Amino acid sequence: MISYQSAAAAMLAFSAACLFQPATPVRAAELTEEQVEEGQRFVVNNAIFILFHEAGHMLVSEFGLPVLGREEDAVDALSSVLLLGAEDEELYTTMQDSADGWFLLDEAKEDGPQEDDFMGTHGLDRQRAYSIVCMMTGANAEFFKEFADSLEFPEERRQECAFEYQKARDSWMSLLAANMKDGAKTKFEVTYEPAGNEDLQGFADLLKEANVLETIATVFGEGYDLKDGIKLTGKTCGTENAFWYAGDREITYCYEMAAFHAGLIANWFENQEEEETSDDAVAEDDSGDETEEQADVSTVKLKKKD
Ligand SMILES: [Zn+2]
Repeated sequence: MISYQSAAAAMLAFSAACLFQPATPVRAAELTEEQVEEGQRFVVNNAIFILFHEAGHMLVSEFGLPVLGREEDAVDALSSVLLLGAEDEELYTTMQDSADGWFLLDEAKEDGPQEDDFMGTHGLDRQRAYSIVCMMTGANAEFFKEFADSLEFPEERRQECAFEYQKARDSWMSLLAANMKDGAKTKFEVTYEPAGNEDLQGFADLLKEANVLETIATVFGEGYDLKDGIKLTGKTCGTENAFWYAGDREITYCYEMAAFHAGLIANWFENQEEEETSDDAVAEDDSGDETEEQADVSTVKLKKKD
């Protein structure tokens, strides 16, 4: 049984670190208690997905699995297949939060993707988000219908995704089958290092209370023919990231990554409030004079230049 959902103690404010200045200027976002809870769940769920992704690298490396195409895409598919394959509603939420995480990350980049992003090892954030959505709707079109509808994810694409999900699942399962062993148990070394600063310590505590590393130890500790002693470490790294180090046999999740996801969701909450406030203002203005001609942005035409 996966117990990462065990709720963490209420933190009344999130710390949000900037993307390239980890843990330096920290701002507290004023959120409602409900938003804090939702935000914590978002942070934990994104950590789970990312840890499954790193565990994917671990399996490829430990078993010497062949990877056709980009490994980053392949292990995103693997984490999706494993999380969705459990057919568990809590894990479905993990997937949804994770897709939202990549969408928010994409939106946070005001100038859009740069050359470096195109040259990088990963797909673009928005592509990663849609790939995850594809796996989600491919695995359970009915459960994720509302979510896919909200993204206007095309019906035709959803049908292709059903096949893509099956293909990804069958390919991974046949590759892994040779490395599964009935009754096999692997011992992992789980460590949450002290964060070294108060702001990040809050996230270290959140991850620890939610048992994120233990979840990985449980899921990958049963049935896989892995040697004991793989380390699962939470720590302050000086960068917002997570890693698999093959030489050290260690998965590292950086607390800065959790702080970064908290910043994404806190911004989203704040932007939503701003939008609501400006909507109210418009409504009030209009209510005074109903006959007044209203500027309707939806009727603006894009006129071709002569
Ligand atoms: Zn990766």
